[in-house]
Amino acid sequence: MKLVTRAVKGTHDLFGDEIRFQRKILRNARQWLESAGAFELATPVFEFTEVFQRGVGQTTDIVQKEMYTFSDRAGRSITLRPEGTAGVIRAFIEHGMKVMPQPVRIWYAGPMFRAERPQKGRQRQFHQVGYEIIGSDSYVADAEAILLSYKILESLGLRQMRLRIGSVGDSQDRMKYNEYLNSVLTPHFDDLSTDSQRRLVSNPLRILDSKAPQDIALLQELDVKPLLEFMGEKSRKHFESVKKALEDLGIAYTIDSRIVRGLDYYAHTAWEIHHELLGSQSALGGGGRYDTLVETLGGAPSPGVGWALGLERVTLAMQAEGLSPDAASRPLIYIFPLAAEFAEKALLAAQSFWPQVSAQYSLSAKKPAKGLREAEKRGAKYAGIIGQDEAASEAITIKNLHTKEQKLLSLKDAAALLKGENNEAH
Ligand code: AMP
Repeated sequence: MKLVTRAVKGTHDLFGDEIRFQRKILRNARQWLESAGAFELATPVFEFTEVFQRGVGQTTDIVQKEMYTFSDRAGRSITLRPEGTAGVIRAFIEHGMKVMPQPVRIWYAGPMFRAERPQKGRQRQFHQVGYEIIGSDSYVADAEAILLSYKILESLGLRQMRLRIGSVGDSQDRMKYNEYLNSVLTPHFDDLSTDSQRRLVSNPLRILDSKAPQDIALLQELDVKPLLEFMGEKSRKHFESVKKALEDLGIAYTIDSRIVRGLDYYAHTAWEIHHELLGSQSALGGGGRYDTLVETLGGAPSPGVGWALGLERVTLAMQAEGLSPDAASRPLIYIFPLAAEFAEKALLAAQSFWPQVSAQYSLSAKKPAKGLREAEKRGAKYAGIIGQDEAASEAITIKNLHTKEQKLLSLKDAAALLKGENNEAH
């Protein structure tokens, strides 16, 4: 296929069921998140590269291997956002949101870009909806964030989900743990994958996240202790409180001591929600607490917690559970002219019904039997017919396709009839 008629590998066009699934997910997310007091923030899809270098972290896979980075015409380094949090925090600082009543609750949605190897459930352009609570270090905020992501998924009808939760402790715990990892892994340096050899120097913790079979085998063989065992009193207490809150809220979880989210700025709680029917890419979303991110990006200290759900993954999960997307919109009325010269009158009729009534019209002439069949095919309840008499008098013949009843109405009366029905299912 020619390059101009082919989407770039790892990107895809959204239409039909696919976009209606995403629309449904976003509709539910908006309802839950705005009912909890969140406002929507749409940040640009590109930022100065530094926002992500600092805000996601230099040692992460995302920054090291997955960013779409380019120079703009003035030679500044720009990056397509690989995730949403860094941009939200940049905006939080830029607009002085710290003076708003704290914590600030923000939700966002949109495309994200990562140069990953495309496979089922993994694309180079994908879509997320996300939520951030900025300005609280309370464990209750962690519980609220988890609760909301869980409720959004549940309200879509999903049942076969598993919440996995862990803690990455605070920076002191991680320092101790990294020392420990260093001491047990350095003697086995040669057995590690090249990526993990690099990680052993830059950020050993990230080795736990490795998908390379040789790393997984080595960690198992050495029976490496989890970070949870290295946590100090403060981190332990925070973790226990979050778990207790989830129990009180009736949200089942399993502890995953290996959970190391892909981003550098996380502290304390980290979690992922997986779906049982998805294969290797089973994470519907994940999140965590970040207590130093705002400072890292140059703002006054402000602890936060947040998550992102992947819309493509949630769609796959809904399909796997046999759930439906938003229904395709059907017209309430389908209007057709009996002669080509009345097509403009058909438009005139349709626009007198828009936008309250979904009205489609034909640009070409149709014989009555053909027009009625077309109306039925489109799932309309009514057919509207424009012939000589109707065209001459700003009227329309309306036929109820269920009762077969037919009447000639002025456009005004027809509009009143259709608008009255509009909210009823047809
Ligand atoms: P992350 O920001 O990596 O924690 O991702 C949060 C969620 O976004 C994941 O759980 C996935 O559902 C989704 N996601 C991340 N990367 C991709 C990708 N390359 N393609 C599709 N979905 C993704």
